[in-house]
Amino acid sequence: MKEPFLSAVPVIKRLESAGYEAYFVGGSVRDYLLGNKISDVDIATSATPDEVKAIFPKTVDIGIQHGTVLVLLKNNSYEITTFRTEGEYQDFRRPKEVSFIRNLNEDLMRRDFTMNAIAMDANGSIIDPFDGQTAIKERVIRTVGSPEERFREDALRMMRAVRFVSQLSFHIAGETLLALKKDAHLLDKIAVERKRAEFEKLLSGDNRKKAFRILLETQVFEYLPGLKNQELKIEKLLSYLCDSLNKKEMWALLLYCLELNQQDSEAFLRNWRLPVKEMKEIQDILLYAKQRLIKDWSRYDLYTAGSETIQSAEKLYLVLKGINDYDSVKYWLNTYDHLPIKQRSELAVTGSDIMAWREQAGGPWLKELLTRIEHAVLQDEVVNEKEKIKEWLKACSQKSEKNC
Ligand code: ATP
Ligand code: MG
Repeated sequence: MKEPFLSAVPVIKRLESAGYEAYFVGGSVRDYLLGNKISDVDIATSATPDEVKAIFPKTVDIGIQHGTVLVLLKNNSYEITTFRTEGEYQDFRRPKEVSFIRNLNEDLMRRDFTMNAIAMDANGSIIDPFDGQTAIKERVIRTVGSPEERFREDALRMMRAVRFVSQLSFHIAGETLLALKKDAHLLDKIAVERKRAEFEKLLSGDNRKKAFRILLETQVFEYLPGLKNQELKIEKLLSYLCDSLNKKEMWALLLYCLELNQQDSEAFLRNWRLPVKEMKEIQDILLYAKQRLIKDWSRYDLYTAGSETIQSAEKLYLVLKGINDYDSVKYWLNTYDHLPIKQRSELAVTGSDIMAWREQAGGPWLKELLTRIEHAVLQDEVVNEKEKIKEWLKACSQKSEKNC
């Protein structure tokens, strides 16, 4: 066994010495068997949340109603979830109430896919009642039990199947795929936030082209916010898809392909419940990439965009143009690095300086003038020094007002 499991072994041992069972479960075991990079290790135990809390001095209740407690140990944190069944499912969503149980097999049985229903004990022995190891070898996504039943219990599992295609480049088993086609409409019942979490993993996966094809083939896209009836636009997205784009750039590409105006783009992202800050970042990437399709970056655009947006917008522009060479990203970032100022606070003058020089109270004129000074400094018309700017302003006002 290797890291990150090794550091977590003492957690399992402690639970065992208190008389409980405990195992590594879920994505970490799957990724370990695949030889992929392992993110967080999840632990499942027969101890109830209260029993877990009695064993470890530092814990945080992160999902106690679902049986999950976060244990903090030696600078690491581990999610420990009590073995559970999910009882009655209502309305195709995961249940609000769960029942805690003492049996590992039943806990594995409620999991979505056979590749995710494997446990590993502290010695590295594998417990695999649903033959998930064969599924991993065959690179196949297959539900634990009847796919139709499992999708009817929690329709989100259909989105999860597609996002695993994107992340793992597995294929979906025949029967599971048939059920996906049949039950895609049940996704209408699922909270947007849960769909978004899976969709964003899909957007970021190496195999997203294949995943998008499955979204089309199964009609799952019809039940995602803003994608209803957008088959042709998704086809267009497929023609642009390449390896280099990150999650935000992918959202921007999607907006581009959907041909939405600014207002509708905002509504689209809002419908996906994206955080406001991310919405703005995505819209900026699209705005500058579209501008870039028309002309080169101006120094002022570089200044207002900032390095992260420059990089993303230039990448998106290159993808839209079908250009494979990324040298221009470096070129524009380098131009940005050499700008005399990167933000307004770096201007050598402030609004108060100008009001004092002009002996005039603030107003829209001041904002306009500051912007004019920013332009002048960025174009090297004037050096960013207080006295120089003062002289420049004086010279300007001696000329016609129009020129300044
Ligand atoms: P990742 O590496 O992306 O985190 P993961 O398989 O760990 O993938 P999680 O969403 O972290 O995915 O879920 C952890 C585990 O919980 C899964 O491996 C699976 O066993 C189970 N699980 C998660 N969501 C569901 C669901 N909707 N229905 C059934 N089991 C689920
Ligand atoms: Mg996980």
